[in-house]
Order: sequence, then structure tokens, then C-alpha cells
Amino acid sequence: MTPRRTRQLDAVLDVVRVARDHPTADQVHDRVRLSVPRVSLGTVYRNLEKLAADGDVRVLHLAGRQSRFDGMTTDHDHFVCDACGGVSDLAAIARPPAGHTRLSAEGYEVRTQTQTFFGTCPGCRAVSAAVR
Ligand SMILES: [Zn+2]
Repeated sequence: MTPRRTRQLDAVLDVVRVARDHPTADQVHDRVRLSVPRVSLGTVYRNLEKLAADGDVRVLHLAGRQSRFDGMTTDHDHFVCDACGGVSDLAAIARPPAGHTRLSAEGYEVRTQTQTFFGTCPGCRAVSAAVR
């Protein structure tokens, strides 16, 4: 790996780790360009894929939406707001172990489990209540 690629990889990782808004690849690209002005979107994509494969970032695949990237790799859940599109972190919500037991019985080995909730965030609910 050339030093240039390492610097770009580090810049991508820094951006995703600092972000709390779960940026899209486009947003990561915009932010990486502040420190690495000539980096291409393709390079950012490749580095994001490598970081995800290595477990350094998490990818949030949200139905019908662009993938988002998360620098917090510890166990936590997400809330996606239908109104503003924002993605919030939630402390992992307790789940009954019964599901794991059933999956084990069916031959699955569970590595991790996350949940994504969809709905309206507190900020958007406050705005729509004020409009009414
Ligand atoms: Zn998150």
C-alpha cells in the first residue's frame, strides 16, 4: 500500500469516527476533501468498503435509501426519521434471548444483532405539533 492511500484511508476513517450523523458516502467525500482536496468519490468508496470489511466502520443499509456509515462499532441500535431522514443512535435495546435460542436450534450461529426503528424523531414531532 502506498503512503498516499494510507493517508486517504486515515482521512476517511477520521471523518466517519468524528461524525455523529451517520454520513452517506457523498457526505464523507465532501468532508474528506477539506483535508485531502483531490480525493475522488471512487477512492472514498473503496476506502469505506475496506474499513467496513475490516470492521472499523459499520454500514447501515436502509431500505430505499443511500447507505450510511457509522464510526461507532460497539453494539447499538438506530432510529431513522421518516420526516428529516436523520439517523440517531440508540443504546442497544434489550432483546429477549429466546430469539437466539430458536435460531441456534435452527442451526444458525448469531454473531451480532442490531435493530433499526423507523418513524418520526422528537425534533420533527415538535415541529409538526407547533404547526397544528
Ligand atoms: Zn450509529
